[in-house]
Amino acid sequence: MSDSTICDLCGLKIGAQVWKLKAAGSEVRFCCEGCKGIYQMLNDIDDDADAEASPNNRGEGEKS
Ligand SMILES: [Zn+2]
Repeated sequence: MSDSTICDLCGLKIGAQVWKLKAAGSEVRFCCEGCKGIYQMLNDIDDDADAEASPNNRGEGEKS
């Protein structure tokens, strides 16, 4: 059973699609984009693939 890939955030088994993220030199895996996003947020990790994403597009539902 050590074969199964487990989400590094919620601990659920990961299905056909795996979301990966590089963190501190190691790679972590997630079951869904939501888990990846939360992990990034908690650990202050930037996804370099999205470096060019528009800065004004986030925090849309945020109350200020
Ligand atoms: Zn998960």
